[in-house]
Amino acid sequence: MSKRTLEDVARYVENQCKGGCKVLSAKPEQHFNDMGEEVRVWNVKTDLEGALWVVEGDTMPMNFYSQEAYYFSADEVYSFHIGLMERMSKASSEYKPEKFVEAITLDNGIALQLFRKLKNIATLIDSAVEIEDFQAIGVQCREILIELGNSIYFAEMAGQREQPKASDFKRKTELFIQFYLIGSENSDYRSIIRKLTESTWDYACKITHSSSTTFYEASTCVTLCTSLVGVYENIRQKVFDPISQYKCKSCKSKKLKPIDDVATDDGIVVKWFLQCDECGEITEVNVEKNLVKIEI
Ligand SMILES: [Zn+2]
Repeated sequence: MSKRTLEDVARYVENQCKGGCKVLSAKPEQHFNDMGEEVRVWNVKTDLEGALWVVEGDTMPMNFYSQEAYYFSADEVYSFHIGLMERMSKASSEYKPEKFVEAITLDNGIALQLFRKLKNIATLIDSAVEIEDFQAIGVQCREILIELGNSIYFAEMAGQREQPKASDFKRKTELFIQFYLIGSENSDYRSIIRKLTESTWDYACKITHSSSTTFYEASTCVTLCTSLVGVYENIRQKVFDPISQYKCKSCKSKKLKPIDDVATDDGIVVKWFLQCDECGEITEVNVEKNLVKIEI
């Protein structure tokens, strides 16, 4: 790109001014070269928009800033512009939909198929414009939830009760909750997870049929679904980490590690001896009532 002239700058400003304005004068106010590239700040006077700073460089996009609105000196507007360009280039080169999914699900090893679908939908939402796009996102969200139900459910969870239908997400999650989150100590956890599960499903169904959805509702739906996947992964982690619920009987620290256990003949642990990392005290816990089935 060759050096921009006064005419280039004037044309740019007149094109960008909403409602049309005329450039009365423009002169280069300052040059900077501390980034290995010459960047110029122009002082531009217009009839309708007042005084502007225009910042441009050999490879960077031109931008203008109102001198009245920002109260910037030429020096300050230069720093501001460089910062802005840097953030923009980072945002476009570093944004990856899977990063969003990983962050929200705590990157905790969710089922591959589920991960792929979540990644897909995080990409879809970026290009969704029309009502049909949003409805399609609702459909995808429901599929993700059904997939989630299938990935966390196994037949023993129903016990003697009737097996849920393959796509019965609500029933499968309810059986999962009843199976894993037992006892009064889990009652608040159970309650919030039930509400979240139910409302996420209902919302996805609503988006599927709604004719007034905007990007924001669809995006909320995607965030809710992704979060819910993370929530169920958390429950599974809690189950795989049963010691997490105990604390030291003398100093109440949670830094416990199992040092011994008592198991039944078929290998089911019924008692743990947990040593506190803080004070060394050994806490003995009966695990019978918290016994959960763990399928790997
Ligand atoms: Zn302790």
